[in-house]
Amino acid sequence: MIRINDIYLPLGYTEDMVAQRTAKDIKVRLNDIENIRIVRKSVDARRKNDVHFTVSVEAEVKNEQNILKKFPPNKVSAVVHENYSVSIVGMRSERPVVAGFGPAGMFAALTLAQSGMRPVVLERGGDCDTRLAAIELFRTKGILDETSNVQFGEGGAGTFSDGKLTTGIRDKRIRHIFEELVRFGAPKDILYLAKPHIGTDILRDVVKNIRKEIISLGGEVIFEARLTRLVSKDDTVCGVVYEKNGKEYELPAENVILAVGHSARDTFEYLCNKGIAMEKKIFAMGVRIEHLQSDVNKSLYGKFTGHPALPPADYKYAVHLPYGRSLYTFCMCPGGYVVAAASEKNSVVTNGMSLYSRNAVNANSALLVNVEPEDLPEDSPLAGCELQRNIEKAAFLAGGSDYSAPVTLVGDFLRSGLSESFGKIRPSYIPSVKFSIPDSIFPDYITDTIRKGIPLLARKADFFNEPEAVITMPETRSSSPVRILRNDKLNSVSLKGLYPCGEGAGYAGGIVSAAVDGIKCGEAVTENG
Ligand SMILES: Cc1cc2nc3c(=O)[nH]c(=O)nc-3n(C[C@H](O)[C@H](O)[C@H](O)COP(=O)(O)OP(=O)(O)OC[C@H]3O[C@@H](n4cnc5c(N)ncnc54)[C@H](O)[C@@H]3O)c2cc1C
Repeated sequence: MIRINDIYLPLGYTEDMVAQRTAKDIKVRLNDIENIRIVRKSVDARRKNDVHFTVSVEAEVKNEQNILKKFPPNKVSAVVHENYSVSIVGMRSERPVVAGFGPAGMFAALTLAQSGMRPVVLERGGDCDTRLAAIELFRTKGILDETSNVQFGEGGAGTFSDGKLTTGIRDKRIRHIFEELVRFGAPKDILYLAKPHIGTDILRDVVKNIRKEIISLGGEVIFEARLTRLVSKDDTVCGVVYEKNGKEYELPAENVILAVGHSARDTFEYLCNKGIAMEKKIFAMGVRIEHLQSDVNKSLYGKFTGHPALPPADYKYAVHLPYGRSLYTFCMCPGGYVVAAASEKNSVVTNGMSLYSRNAVNANSALLVNVEPEDLPEDSPLAGCELQRNIEKAAFLAGGSDYSAPVTLVGDFLRSGLSESFGKIRPSYIPSVKFSIPDSIFPDYITDTIRKGIPLLARKADFFNEPEAVITMPETRSSSPVRILRNDKLNSVSLKGLYPCGEGAGYAGGIVSAAVDGIKCGEAVTENG
């Protein structure tokens, strides 16, 4: 079996053309090729007059050794599948505890359950259905539930997301994660699309199915159960205390995976006060920008816009300003919505999500600026959380103190004026929005970088020139402002048996890397057990 990369396919290609084009590329007869399948597919829109697909295939071909010799390895290579399997350690009297049921906690717990270790999962938020009802109440009535919301609850921050599965990391566990996601209900195309995407509507069922699997393997998942304390002796974990319905419960545990995400500020405070080593780290903040998806399509697909084989166009850009700051797009959601993502009372936070179909009118993306540790006035590891909180509260006030998000039109923002009415783009944020100026919400280095960066982005993609594009504020929870220090066995450097894990602990950014880190921590526990 060999893998052949960079095969050109027109947008309207037929199945037969896959083998035909492959045969032409590697100069063999069509009959020499058997069992061909696409293993990677991406849209190539670099040249507007020739938008097409580029695919990689795996196939059985006659005389593979000769072909391998004829072509460079980036064109043709032998197929090597890195198989991943969970080590079975079997049942122990000790049950590991996993705090947090986001991508990191879910995959940590799944790994432990598959290894036979019967984990107990504590998740501060509700199960998916409870959570959905709480989010609806917030969206429609502006009543925020601090227990279950877009950040907290079954599936973590990723459940009400775009479900993009793109990642910058390389790891043998990624293929395994995708296969598991498909086994639990994700669309099969995530196995070969270069930009895989699940969508919040499908993701909700996937996370429920993962929970059911963990339980069927002997694990336990306790919702509305917030880890409040770690019990330790001689710098070693021996249990956890959690709070549920106003009561505290204690569980014995020698291994605790702490996968609480980047919004568990109360948990970070507790850990910091307990002397668990942590530090402030680089993170990012900014705004969400919305354009018409049709304008983005036109800009990126040119005359091919509207071709039925093309997905709604997406983008990713970065611009660098002469004084050292950069502005970059992040978590772009084609055909999506800007969502209310607050988890604390009297604060406003935005983020983006989409359904699998990605068929909403607007495209949205975060426009982010990095916040370096030296930008923070205080030395405390929690200084970044404090800055996030201050901005979220300033946004709440600017929005009229009823969870409306502050918004501005790009044209007015660039000339530092207050917007008065919307143009062709209506904001998708619910419950409501109020015109405001970003300068009253962010530190100067953030507003300045966004203001100076947008015209530079417009040189890369013309829709950034749109003065009626809508900016909704603030996007504060795109990454964790803290890192909880761990050693090469993934143990906290302060407390044996504690495994800081996932995005909140500073070891991941996004669904896939959080899931990878969850598996790694699960493995570390099984090796320790
Ligand atoms: C609206 C939105 C859209 C997003 N879109 C994408 C996307 O398309 N693609 C992508 O890769 N990433 C996306 N992200 C980011 C992604 O969701 C996160 O990177 C990822 O979820 C981090 O995983 P995690 O498991 O480390 O943490 P989280 O997902 O944050 O999970 C942590 C969990 O721990 C729980 N918890 C917190 N404190 C405690 C405690 N003390 N006790 C018990 N439980 C606790 C929380 O309730 C939460 O469920 C999005 C995020 C949001 C909010």
